[in-house]
Amino acid sequence: MSIEKILQTLEWGSAPESIKMAEEFVKNFGSEQGIFINGKWLYPVGCERFNTTNPANGEVLATIIQSGQKEVDSAVMAAREAQPKWAALSGHERAKYLYAIARNIQKHSRLLAVLETLDNGKPIRESRDIDVPLMIRHFYHHAGWAQIMDETHPNHEPIGVCGSIIPWNFPLLMLSWKIAPALAAGNTIILKPAEYTSLSALAFAEICRSVGLPHGVLNIITGDGRTGARIVEHEGIDKVAFTGSTGVGRIIRNAIAGTGKGLTLELGGKSPYIVFEDADIDSAVEGLVNAIWFNQGQVCCAGSRLLVQENIAEKFHDKLRLRMSKLRLGNPMDKAIDMGAIVDESQLAMITKMCKEAEAEGLEMWQADNPLPQEGLFFPPTLFSNVAPSSTIAQEEVFGPVLVSLTFRSPSEAIALANNTRYGLAGSVWSQDIDTALEVARSIKAGTIWVNCTNQFDANSGFGGYRESGFGREGGIEGLWAYMRNKPPTSEKSLSGYMIHQSQSQIQTSPSGGTAGASLDQQGSIVNRTTKFYIGGKQCRPDGNYSLSVIGPNGFVGEVGRGNRKDIRNAVEAASKSINSKNWCGKSAHSRAQVLFYIGENLQQREDEIAKRISAQTGQSMDDAISEVKDSIAEWFRWASWSDKHDGRVHETTINGLVLAVNEPLGVVGLVCPASPSLFSFTRLLAPLISMGNSVVAIPSETAPLAALEMYQIFETSDLPAGVVNIVTGLHEELLSTIAEHDAIDAIWADINDMTLVHQGSCGNMKQTWKATSLSSDKELLRRACNVKNIWLPHGI
Ligand code: ADP
Repeated sequence: MSIEKILQTLEWGSAPESIKMAEEFVKNFGSEQGIFINGKWLYPVGCERFNTTNPANGEVLATIIQSGQKEVDSAVMAAREAQPKWAALSGHERAKYLYAIARNIQKHSRLLAVLETLDNGKPIRESRDIDVPLMIRHFYHHAGWAQIMDETHPNHEPIGVCGSIIPWNFPLLMLSWKIAPALAAGNTIILKPAEYTSLSALAFAEICRSVGLPHGVLNIITGDGRTGARIVEHEGIDKVAFTGSTGVGRIIRNAIAGTGKGLTLELGGKSPYIVFEDADIDSAVEGLVNAIWFNQGQVCCAGSRLLVQENIAEKFHDKLRLRMSKLRLGNPMDKAIDMGAIVDESQLAMITKMCKEAEAEGLEMWQADNPLPQEGLFFPPTLFSNVAPSSTIAQEEVFGPVLVSLTFRSPSEAIALANNTRYGLAGSVWSQDIDTALEVARSIKAGTIWVNCTNQFDANSGFGGYRESGFGREGGIEGLWAYMRNKPPTSEKSLSGYMIHQSQSQIQTSPSGGTAGASLDQQGSIVNRTTKFYIGGKQCRPDGNYSLSVIGPNGFVGEVGRGNRKDIRNAVEAASKSINSKNWCGKSAHSRAQVLFYIGENLQQREDEIAKRISAQTGQSMDDAISEVKDSIAEWFRWASWSDKHDGRVHETTINGLVLAVNEPLGVVGLVCPASPSLFSFTRLLAPLISMGNSVVAIPSETAPLAALEMYQIFETSDLPAGVVNIVTGLHEELLSTIAEHDAIDAIWADINDMTLVHQGSCGNMKQTWKATSLSSDKELLRRACNVKNIWLPHGI
């Protein structure tokens, strides 16, 4: 008898996990659950409550508190009081607590896995073998960071009190991603689990209480989005860490715009799963099962878009359908179940609706005939093949067990399709050819790429997105950065440490609104000093023909263009073209360094002339102005030197293989410079950005823009390719929103006091925004000039 026949005739028995422990936990804590504030369980009377249910059978497990303002206030107050004391402990002391938490999670891992599955509906196989072990690894790993942080990060301090909001798909794992690094770095925290899945977080709070974690260091309060919003908006919160939908991420970005609160967002995705003709097909099919049907597809990085090479598509789909038909759906407590329940009715309704709409669009839906349980919230594994890249279901996140399949012919088409999304969380590449696999991995715009594998996670590898998948990383050193900041700079030259000259320059709008460029210069001769913009390697006139007069302490110095939306759009187009053609980011770091050194050298040739320009605008003495130019020359040398030294890393993880953390340019960056020191600040911010391969749309000092404009002749003579630096002058308040809202800009560095407009405008494509004054060290500037992409390369023979 063939193995296939044997497999066909074998019946599955049931292998249920006992739920006794979890029932006892709920009983001990009462079916009316409390909240954990300042080391104590609280059961506030009069609070609204809601049920948490088992989605596999609809049974009510317990009632949960809908925390209101009072509860949020108490939690924040407890965290604030505890924070200085927690931060003052030695790293070793904090490490001992984190280690004790890890050990105790280990001891209670069965309880946690069962509670997680009861409340969420995910198969016990996953919560037991994936979620909880990853959680334990996370706490051990961060106990290690706490221990060695004095050595690894001597000039850093914690951010303060963190407000963390997590989703329901991986309640324990998400909780660990937020809590472990925050505590390791000396922050305290208020965490809110998602309303569908609060139980495991409450069990975790009890573990922390039992290990004697100092009161107030960790506070867990329950509730829905209203509670989340109160935490986010609370003025006692210094940093918000959110994982969830892009929609709510936007609301949060908006809610804290201009407040100065730190923010990391891990949002949605529509990750490509790319299979080349030379892939190990059976492994790729198995990987795909893991990519899209793990946790019923309710995974932000789910490989929900299959891109398969055309000539193997039919064979691949046949194998896939066969495998889909073997998936077993049922009681998630059964250890032999592949897919459990969908978390909630509303989620099931959304998945169903999206599939119906796709069918109505004319797409063909295929579902295996897998028997579905009689009760509970289940949705079968679903495949839409031959889908057009633009169809809604190929673009929108379903967050359910629904795969769409598209075909491609060449690697470049695969890359184009993979990047045809507004998200950028993850991607998988399947090919036995190392050139293809690595080239494609480098070309996909996403934070994590798995080569010949999928859904690999480890506490020592950063996870997080590009584009609308958010910003910031979770895990390892990359994640830890979000929970600390540089102590105020001491000796290192930085923008915030630079002496600010009391600039006496002003800007005046030209009454004639146009060609008022002819005027008397300081020597009394008639000159036309309307300095043009620099866009795409060319000098251009302002679209609106308006100009601004730069007035120094001795009167008129020159005219500059008054940029408008159209000018910014042209500059962004030129910068995008530079990125797409890879005329700069595609060069080796050594080549970029050569150009940057050359810029410094050429600036030196014009030291006196440019110093005069600075002095005429600002009233600085010539000595001061010369020293500003000299400092700027040194900056060009500095960032030329860094070009090939901001290395990535090879992470130590739990796989047999390499995990390469690669620093990639952000793309197009909008740069808004401060008024003064006009040349130095322009250089200090622009040079690291281009040193790392970004292309920039720069708005120089509003009142003293002429020195920066002098630079374009230097760029031209220093072999800087067209479009890498684009300069538009004008009134910052007129240009800020256009820059912030432009969807082709990937990040903004702005040196302005009020970042509200920038933050609000950034919500469209969720671009990252940095206040330039907070970028106080070289290393920080380098970090903020790059995205880290983690490429997983398992191997073995
Ligand atoms: P999902 O789509 O994964 O359910 P959501 O983004 O809706 O994700 O929810 C993720 C988390 O965000 C949950 O804990 C939820 O309660 C919380 N949340 C929802 N709305 C808001 C809001 N306006 N502000 C803060 N948190 C919110």
